[in-house]
Amino acid sequence: MTHTPGRLVLLGHPLSHSLSPRFQNAALVAAGIPLRYEAVDVEPTAFEDVVATLKGQNAAGNVTIPFKERMHDACGVLSPLAQRVGAVNVFWIDEDGRLVGDNSDVGGFDAAVATLLGACPRDITVGLLGAGGAAAAVLAAVETWPGCTAHVYNRTPERARLLCERFGAVAQPVDDVGVIAGAQLVVNATSIGIRDDAYPLSPSLIAPGAAVIDLVYRPGETAWIRALRARGHRACDGLPMLIEQGALAFERWFGVAPDREVMWRSVSA
Ligand code: NAP
Repeated sequence: MTHTPGRLVLLGHPLSHSLSPRFQNAALVAAGIPLRYEAVDVEPTAFEDVVATLKGQNAAGNVTIPFKERMHDACGVLSPLAQRVGAVNVFWIDEDGRLVGDNSDVGGFDAAVATLLGACPRDITVGLLGAGGAAAAVLAAVETWPGCTAHVYNRTPERARLLCERFGAVAQPVDDVGVIAGAQLVVNATSIGIRDDAYPLSPSLIAPGAAVIDLVYRPGETAWIRALRARGHRACDGLPMLIEQGALAFERWFGVAPDREVMWRSVSA
């Protein structure tokens, strides 16, 4: 979309932890776009009504936990990536008044990994913890990486099995977390560590030389990532992915790239 939406919102529940308003508003000011990015905490029972109201207001925005799958189902038009992941984290209204859903988590994850490794991954194994919407975005990126495969471990094994069925060419469920620890790239796509300093996997188990990305982000990085870096691993938390998915969303809404430096400065201040 290249015309200015009527409103720009983030839909989620709860929303108190989100950094998105901070960096999106900084980017809007820098671009001279006269809109505010509003965090809208939506009661789960009200989600479809809120979406209908926003449609009438020509709104655009982001969707976060727990609504990405419900937004996927609410959209009249889905990008191929949103269909592949089964979740929408970016939406807007097109010129025909249709609700369009896309997924920029995949591009955000892809960019964060390329920055961490210094290049697009090639011929590596990925150890993935978790089997929810974020894990699906990770596998949608992995299937675009030449020669790469993933092992998936989840607290609820059945969910890992179902997710791997959808990404059968690259993903395989495992019931031994040691297989994850032995991968060349280890990814935490569970919500462990979001509220406290819990580790999703003991740092001492992770293979020397492995790179690690935690999709969870917290002020000052997650305790897990700090511990891994202290052991010499290349490691980053979910902030680079968050900023990049937001920058890609901004490009979808306005047809121009935001100033990524401004976004980064706003969350570093
Ligand atoms: P989700 O669909 O609710 O999935 C949550 C996952 O975490 C499931 O695999 C769940 O396992 C697992 N889990 C939760 N608590 C656990 C525990 N105590 N022990 C073991 N496993 C546990 O959520 P999601 O959308 O995939 O998001 C997952 C995480 O990624 C969240 O922390 C979210 O903030 C983060 N994320 C970050 C970005 C970013 O831009 N950085 C983008 C998207 C998501 P079960 O299946 O057994 O319940």
